[in-house]
Amino acid sequence: MAKHKILVIEDNKTQANIVKDNLTKNGYDVLLAVDGISGFKQAKTERPDLVLLDRVLPDMDGNEVCRWMKLDPSTRDIPVIMLTARSTSSDKVAGLEAGADDYLPKPFDETELIARISVRLRSKSQQDELKKKNRQLEDMLSQVENLAVMDPLTGLFNRRRFETILGNEFRRSVRYHSPLSLLMLDIDHFKIINDTFGHQTGDAVLKECARLFHDLVRQVDTVARYGGEEFVILSPNITRDSAFQAADRIRKAIEAHSFPGVEGRSITISIGVASMPDPALDSEEKFIHSADMAMYEAKKKGRNRVVSA
Ligand code: GH3
Ligand code: MG
Ligand code: MG
Ligand code: MG
Repeated sequence: MAKHKILVIEDNKTQANIVKDNLTKNGYDVLLAVDGISGFKQAKTERPDLVLLDRVLPDMDGNEVCRWMKLDPSTRDIPVIMLTARSTSSDKVAGLEAGADDYLPKPFDETELIARISVRLRSKSQQDELKKKNRQLEDMLSQVENLAVMDPLTGLFNRRRFETILGNEFRRSVRYHSPLSLLMLDIDHFKIINDTFGHQTGDAVLKECARLFHDLVRQVDTVARYGGEEFVILSPNITRDSAFQAADRIRKAIEAHSFPGVEGRSITISIGVASMPDPALDSEEKFIHSADMAMYEAKKKGRNRVVSA
């Protein structure tokens, strides 16, 4: 294990050297500083594992140095043990209020100094370990949260997340009579793509469609994978006619796009559009159903087209 590095901030040369010898003998690396300013600077640049801080320094009070260290993010976590000739309880309180982790009145004996140092170092490393574990837990938690709302194949929102967003937008639309359109998009004859080129190529087509949808809509729109080869786009604040036109633009873009792995064959989609406000659509379920029915209508009429409910 690497040696622990201890910074001793002490203006009295004799005292500093005694402490230094003690620490060195006990296996620590020692840095010395003779006043508050240079001590604080060294703490920042050298990042010692612990600071032994004399209370009375030529340029300032040791409590002040301690306060600086505890305010600075780069030195905040370094344990500080205050060393002082003064040892009234009000002195101790002042030191601890400044953020010192421990307090050792001079003269102290070597054994006690070493014991206190090793206690502080141990609790510091336990804290570091805890912090690391907490960070790992937080990372895992956010991954789990992501998994719960993302579709792993396409990276789009999944149906569950979409339904939450739809719920919010739907309530807003009902309450303020604001326009809201829902596009239900289904790839035409996708089964044939799978059967002809294999499931992996099918997957690649789904991913590519997702990317194109994502690039073709506005930032305020929500794109999600609704099911196997079905996608939904939710567009707030857009008129019925504009929603139809946007859907047709998407349809044409997919038709014109050359997808990899399908030997120049064009991929087409059928889209159903439902739009709010509409007194007949008084629930989210009816809103979705209406877009779905329009999509089936598009299939019936020959596919590769947009039908508005
Ligand atoms: P239609 O034009 O009527 O929509 O015909 P279709 O073949 O697209 O519709 P159908 O519902 O008969 O078939 C959908 C196919 O989508 C069947 C299923 O195996 C495939 N599929 C669903 N999810 C995935 C997926 O994640 N990856 C791949 N490669 N295929 C999928
Ligand atoms: Mg002093
Ligand atoms: Mg389908
Ligand atoms: Mg299909």
